[in-house]
Amino acid sequence: MNQKSWLSGQKPNNSLTLDSVKEKPAFEILKQFFWQAIQKNATDMHFDPKPSLVDIRIRVDGHLQSFSQGTTEQFEVWKRIIKLQSHLNIAENRLPQEGGFSLEQDDNRCDMRISFMPTIFGEKCAVRFLPTGESFQNCLDLGMTRDQLILVEQTISSREGSVIISGPTGSGKSTTLHTLLGLFPKKTLHIVSIEDPVEIRDKEINQIQVQEEIGLTYQQLLKKMMRLDPDVFLLGEVRDKETARIACEAALTGHFFLTTIHTKSTFDILLRLLEMGIEPYLIATSLSVLISERLVRKVCTHCSEKIALNDPSLNKQGIHSHLVGKGCAFCHYTGYQGRQGVFEVVSLSEETKKMISAFSLTPNLDLLQQSFQKDCLVPLQENFFTLIRKGVTNWEEALIQLENFE
Ligand SMILES: [Zn+2]
Repeated sequence: MNQKSWLSGQKPNNSLTLDSVKEKPAFEILKQFFWQAIQKNATDMHFDPKPSLVDIRIRVDGHLQSFSQGTTEQFEVWKRIIKLQSHLNIAENRLPQEGGFSLEQDDNRCDMRISFMPTIFGEKCAVRFLPTGESFQNCLDLGMTRDQLILVEQTISSREGSVIISGPTGSGKSTTLHTLLGLFPKKTLHIVSIEDPVEIRDKEINQIQVQEEIGLTYQQLLKKMMRLDPDVFLLGEVRDKETARIACEAALTGHFFLTTIHTKSTFDILLRLLEMGIEPYLIATSLSVLISERLVRKVCTHCSEKIALNDPSLNKQGIHSHLVGKGCAFCHYTGYQGRQGVFEVVSLSEETKKMISAFSLTPNLDLLQQSFQKDCLVPLQENFFTLIRKGVTNWEEALIQLENFE
């Protein structure tokens, strides 16, 4: 069974055939590793082979930290167990492989996506801990302000138009998309999602996995899906003109769509769609709310201290100091603990929409940008300043996130 069939909902057969006395205790150690990592809110775990040992690291709050080590012999046994559990080929160690399995303990369950990749010191194994539908937060928990949420709710309750989220890789766009879906009455609406990969499982909607190797591309699936006449559809990402056009056209005929796009700012979403060659009138009539998102690390509350900031541009904003974590056992000596989203929400006004519509006849980017800025509730940077003033994060982290774009 490969990753895609596992993610499409078939329950993996966990009847493990551990065939040596070494393997059962080794599996217990692995399970302990995984649960410990999950308790530390790790999103993934990496087994990195070195010449004489394996280094195990976990990613917490977006940053890798060391977790444990094992001998090369132990790692050979662990790899075999992980491959067996993930229904991968245990004899294959030269080619990349992908799969997954679930851990269950008491009432807890965690789905994991597994990747093996050959390196010069042997196969590396990466484990991604997938969030479960039950752990959905609401938009305020994610870090949206109440005013931003009201704006999004107004758009969603009109059941027409779209929400597009931009941001760098790993900025929490998928989590936000699925959290926004929670604002729709799922039981009385036909909701379909097309994702690559399906990371967050939601049993109340129809989730479809892109499988390019058998021709199930975003485009193909989207065309076929429109025949099902969904009230709401979620597209994991808009990558090409065809997909963008179908989605925009669908919004004109009473379907609501939510998607993400890889651009640096909300304004860049408009530019990207224009660059793709989507007709301006189509953009103007189908776009409703544009969101830009970043994930910011929160200063550890156990070891933070106030440090003065003598930066004139910050002082002008009324920021004269910020909190910096010295590092303690609570934050694994990083100075940070936990993360939250920072958002910019723009609801397009009629004036801006008119300008977009007329863009091919009278292209004036400066005027469009001015009008767009008026539609923006609070700019992203201003929301970072607010979090610094509140002591949630600090200037160093804000700089990293404001400049980060991968
Ligand atoms: Zn600390």
